[in-house]
Amino acid sequence: MKGDIIWYNEDMKKIDVVIIGGGIAGMTAAIYVRRANKSVVVFEKNIYGGQIVETYAVENWPGEISISGADLSRKVEQQAKEFGVKFCDEEVLSVRKNGEREIAVETDEGEYYASSLIIAVGAEERKLGLPGEAEFAGRGISYCATCDGAFYKDKEVVVVGGGNTALNDALYLADIAKKVYLVHRRDTFRGDAVLVERLKAKENVEFILESRPIEFLGDQKLTGLKIAHIDGKEKVLEVPGVFMAVGKNPQTELVRELVDLDEKGYVVAGEDCHTSAEGIYVAGDCRTKEVRQLVTAASDGAVAATEACRNL
Ligand code: NAP
Repeated sequence: MKGDIIWYNEDMKKIDVVIIGGGIAGMTAAIYVRRANKSVVVFEKNIYGGQIVETYAVENWPGEISISGADLSRKVEQQAKEFGVKFCDEEVLSVRKNGEREIAVETDEGEYYASSLIIAVGAEERKLGLPGEAEFAGRGISYCATCDGAFYKDKEVVVVGGGNTALNDALYLADIAKKVYLVHRRDTFRGDAVLVERLKAKENVEFILESRPIEFLGDQKLTGLKIAHIDGKEKVLEVPGVFMAVGKNPQTELVRELVDLDEKGYVVAGEDCHTSAEGIYVAGDCRTKEVRQLVTAASDGAVAATEACRNL
């Protein structure tokens, strides 16, 4: 089985399992489908690996003491290819059910038919919709520290947020920038305590707590961020770079008509990864769940693939 790319059944039309999304959840699911000797295609319009590609150091993936998100996702992709997973760089435009036992998937290059579908579309960076945010995106506002951090060597930057992304970003930037202001709206952090402790030990990191961003300032490029403390006092941090890390929104618009979503747009499913539609499963950060981590994305991938194969 290893190495063979078998992705169509004999009629050359129908795939056993189609997976939308090539992040850790989707790629893990694909490995499991191939190990069950079923055909599988993973559609990914952007980069394989998903959000983790932007994480500079992953330290909570068992077996790796520390590894960059990009290296980890490359390893998982390689592993999937070893098992004969077919990856398609096509954008899925629509998905519909064709009766009880078939799901039609239309991409920008054609139409495919599957017996089971796994939604593993992940989430994208949340925007706050503040004044200046759209105007200065890419001109001082970044949503990816590992992509854009190098532009701020020996300059001052702000990181906004208090989750693991913000904490990781601040640590990464502290080694590049002259100073990092970490602006967070509460005085406790959603992210891991170990990262907070590491940041506290950095001389060039200043915590600005109980404060939230209210306006991005600048002319052609960003020149500062106006923030407001919970006591109402406002001030401007004069910086050329602001890294936003205020959470993610699930990318589930595509399947809105197909499966039940919760009020925030996550696909409703329990630990068995079954959605409200028969033959359709969900894995990773776009599923309703408590703990959104790499290992739980991989775990969902395994469960969703097992259920998807059982459905065949
Ligand atoms: P997150 O955990 O949802 O954190 C978002 C942060 O943004 C929170 O601190 C939140 O504040 C803040 N925020 C949200 N809306 C805001 C607003 N309107 N104004 C100001 N601040 C706002 O998102 P994340 O950090 O992107 O992480 C997403 C998931 O990926 C998490 O489960 C995280 O653990 C995981 N992750 C894992 C790794 C890893 O395993 N290595 C790395 C990165 C991320 P509040 O806390 O007050 O709500």
